[in-house]
Amino acid sequence: MPASTLVSLSGSSSGEVYDADRLWRLDPADDRPLLATYDLEAAARTMTPASLRERPRGMWRWTELLPVRDPTAIVHLGEGDTPLVAAPRLGARLDLADLRIKAEGGNPTGSFKARGMTAAVSRNAELGATSFIAPSAGNAAGALAAYGAAAGLPVTVLMPVDAPEVNKVEVLVCGARLILVEGLISDCGRVGAELAKLTGAFDVSTLKEPYRVEGKKTMGLELAEQFDWQLPDVILYPTGGGTGLVGMWKAFAELEAMGLIGPERPRMVSVQATGCAPIVRAFESGATEAEPWQGASTRAGGIRVPGAVGDRLILQAIRASEGTAIAIDETDIDRAQLMAGSHGAGYVSPETGAVIAATGELRASGWIGRDERVVAFDTGIGAKYPPPPLPGQTPVVDPADFDPEALLASLPSSAA
Ligand SMILES: *Cc1c(COP(=O)(O)O)cnc(C)c1O
Repeated sequence: MPASTLVSLSGSSSGEVYDADRLWRLDPADDRPLLATYDLEAAARTMTPASLRERPRGMWRWTELLPVRDPTAIVHLGEGDTPLVAAPRLGARLDLADLRIKAEGGNPTGSFKARGMTAAVSRNAELGATSFIAPSAGNAAGALAAYGAAAGLPVTVLMPVDAPEVNKVEVLVCGARLILVEGLISDCGRVGAELAKLTGAFDVSTLKEPYRVEGKKTMGLELAEQFDWQLPDVILYPTGGGTGLVGMWKAFAELEAMGLIGPERPRMVSVQATGCAPIVRAFESGATEAEPWQGASTRAGGIRVPGAVGDRLILQAIRASEGTAIAIDETDIDRAQLMAGSHGAGYVSPETGAVIAATGELRASGWIGRDERVVAFDTGIGAKYPPPPLPGQTPVVDPADFDPEALLASLPSSAA
């Protein structure tokens, strides 16, 4: 395998340049995210459509554009290369001729958080981090616990008390320390930062260190390859910290500089919940930064993020792409989860429900054209969450004494 072409880190706002072979968190100049810079000319010499096809599957085949220098430092559980699945029935329901789903639930730990954590744990451990800490609404916690265990390094995670039970369990099963916080993910972040100061644990809060975004960037690299190096017209992404959206946008710029794609870009759509929509509000008011959302509430925990450190980068990407931002209410999230399931998309997460609902709304308003190539992100499996309100009455039958006709008559009609 070729080597990483990582050159330096640079301040996303300040433009200051830093030594990439030292541990960093935020830009010391202004406390904003640091982003990795690569030698794209060198990368283009070995990373070609043909060479990529021959490499072992998984997100680490994009070696030149990932930050780890020593391949033996990679802590890998089989993440990446998720399928891009055609969704003809769901597409027809939403009046779309070409709807595809990027099925991220197939990643280890059941969500795309695995991509960010394999990159952050591998690279920061390579640079000397010996333990990790992070706040999480749920899925990031499970992923960090899994990758920390794979690396043999201790992990502490902080979650809101009302985080899904399954996420708490997976953290404990993976041997990590769990702390529950009476508050939101932002409160978890504050408690975590204090503990990190005392213990020296490396804080991998999203976009507060440079490498989770590099892992999530691989979703954009994969999409380019899966679309045969012609990007789709629209990408809809459920936005919490915005790591994936920012990462994909960065990936497209790198691919263009390498000559692998042209200047065309998909319109990037940031999907949030009406109970927590700081990016939508900032987008609509023309602001370059998002004010923190007060009283954030939504069942879709991954997008219950009141204040994103990457707010400027998210808003820049949406605007530069001529995209938009849209908020979905809880009833529509519930409904879309059921609709996605009954139309062949499987049991998707509530965050994905928000994306499906947004796809329908933007098609209905004409913002998305019928024949456009649309990618809806399915960011994680539904089975890790408390379910939406379920339709119908489920009968319980005594096999020794039942009336088949009455049983059939009692069943609700199929939603499919
Ligand atoms: C974390 C998460 C999100 C939000 O992702 P960001 O890149 O942080 O915006 C969306 N969906 C699920 C299932 C998540 O776990």
